[in-house]
Amino acid sequence: MNPSVDSVVASAFSRRSFFRFAAGASALASLPILTESHLALAQRPQFADPNKGIHIDANENPLGPSEAARQAIVDIVPRGGRYLFNLEMDLTETFAKQEGLDPETVKVFAGSSDPLHYTVLAFTSKDRPLVIADPGYEAPMWAAKASGAQVIKVPLADPNGAAKHDVKAMLAASANPGVIYICNPNNPTGTCTPRAEIEQLVAGAPKDTVILIDEAYIHLCTEPQSLDFVKDGKNVIVLRTFSKLYGMAGIRMGFAIGRKDLIAKYQYFGQNSMPVTALVAAKASLMDKALVPTRRKIIGDTRMDTLAWLKSDGYAVTPSESNCFMLDVRRPGRQVMAGMAAKDIYIGRIWPVWPTRVRITVGTHDEMLAFRKAFTEVMAAPAVAAELELPRLPGRLAETPFTHMS
Ligand code: PLP
Repeated sequence: MNPSVDSVVASAFSRRSFFRFAAGASALASLPILTESHLALAQRPQFADPNKGIHIDANENPLGPSEAARQAIVDIVPRGGRYLFNLEMDLTETFAKQEGLDPETVKVFAGSSDPLHYTVLAFTSKDRPLVIADPGYEAPMWAAKASGAQVIKVPLADPNGAAKHDVKAMLAASANPGVIYICNPNNPTGTCTPRAEIEQLVAGAPKDTVILIDEAYIHLCTEPQSLDFVKDGKNVIVLRTFSKLYGMAGIRMGFAIGRKDLIAKYQYFGQNSMPVTALVAAKASLMDKALVPTRRKIIGDTRMDTLAWLKSDGYAVTPSESNCFMLDVRRPGRQVMAGMAAKDIYIGRIWPVWPTRVRITVGTHDEMLAFRKAFTEVMAAPAVAAELELPRLPGRLAETPFTHMS
């Protein structure tokens, strides 16, 4: 067996073991805290060296950290032997000041996956369901597995048009939800739910239901943000991450913003100290006023070019305002993922409710040109794409409960 086949098999094995562990661990109420990278890995047709090929399947930002963030990391390294707790307070206060928030309503985490998981654990239970959009980001459903909560999935409204959260149906879905989860813009569609509809949701929810508004992608669109709900003392927790527009997915930094009594519940789950590199990189990113508009334009222009090209070729896409969109390939999406993977271009994921649609992350301009070329070839050769499916997918996780979650 040559080394590359060896490593593919080893990786497929460890992937399977990991997700079997995840599935089995639910009985012990100790699931791993999942994030987009796990979910993308679970559907990747073949194990791929992250340094090889084009990876547009995990909503990452190929631009990476800003120049100022990189410099801040380099500058702090010599002091990395210290805990430097003051940096965490400094970051919290900087963000709170910029947003006009009470610093005590802001909590710092290594990414937003932890507070997402903790919110579901803290506020849902056997009698307090989780209400979530479908297709939507699945990580909260994994946390609900641990809390034993029923998951109520509500289809997006106008799925072939605006594809936004169906706020009225979400409100009607349960008399007593513990958490209603809104992802704005939504992962995977990249679509926004208008502010007025989120206001209806906040006003109409039972008084002890927490509205969890995940703004992982908010910097990529111009939709109004939700932090004022927290300022107004509503039952709202907002999540922010530096993994998307700020390009820090591997560096790890995020915030949970919520009323003091709500975020106090996180204490129960414990909290470790933060890496100093992440703290200074996040602060440098926040201080760079040009960063959000500049990157929003770069990613937005590439997204618009790609969407226009696909539409001119007759493909239906979601009207995304983010760094990802869903593309209807009019055949099992898995076949197209496998055909693209054979060309070292990794797209996806797929949501069971939309089996012929594939999520595409917006990469760099050049990556998207390579995507176009490969996609044209794959779609011109359906028989080849179908044949590729089985041989290219030996280690995939189709049978695990993990991929059946959404
Ligand atoms: N929320 C949504 C909707 C996401 O798509 C992601 C990652 O892709 C996250 C939260 C969490 O990301 P992180 O833990 O890297 O902040």
